Amino acid sequence: MGRHIVCPGCGEAEELMGSQSPEGIRIRCEKCETEWLRDAEPERCATCGGTEVVQRQRALTQFSRGSQLSIVGFTAVPLCRVCDAEMLAWAHAGRAVPFNYRPAALDPEAAKEREKQDGDDVIITP
Ligand SMILES: [Zn+2]
Ligand SMILES: [Zn+2]
Repeated sequence: MGRHIVCPGCGEAEELMGSQSPEGIRIRCEKCETEWLRDAEPERCATCGGTEVVQRQRALTQFSRGSQLSIVGFTAVPLCRVCDAEMLAWAHAGRAVPFNYRPAALDPEAAKEREKQDGDDVIITP
C-alpha cells in the first residue's frame, strides 16, 4: 500500500482492517469501529468544490426499548471547512455530528436549505 492510513475517528494507525466492497477498499478501525472508504480521500466538497474536507464522527442512533434514543455506534462523516464550518465547530468541541445532519460537503441542497432557514424560526419536526 505504501500510503499512511489513520483512522479519521480516533487517529489509530495500527489496528485497521481492510476489506473489498462494491465502492472500493473499505477500512474499519478495530478500536472505535469507524468505517470509511480508503479511496474516497481526498474528498471534494460538493458545494464549493474545495478539498478542505475533513472526517468527523457521526453518531449512529436507534430507539431502544422505551423511547430513549441511544447511540449504537459511530461512522465517519465528511465536513467541509468552509461550508460546514458551524458543524465543524460543534464537532471540534468533542461532540458527535447529529445523525440527521446533512453535510454540505456531500449535498449542495442541504447548504441551500440551511441558508434559507437563517433568520426564520427553526421548526423541529419529530
Ligand atoms: Zn478509530
Ligand atoms: Zn465546501
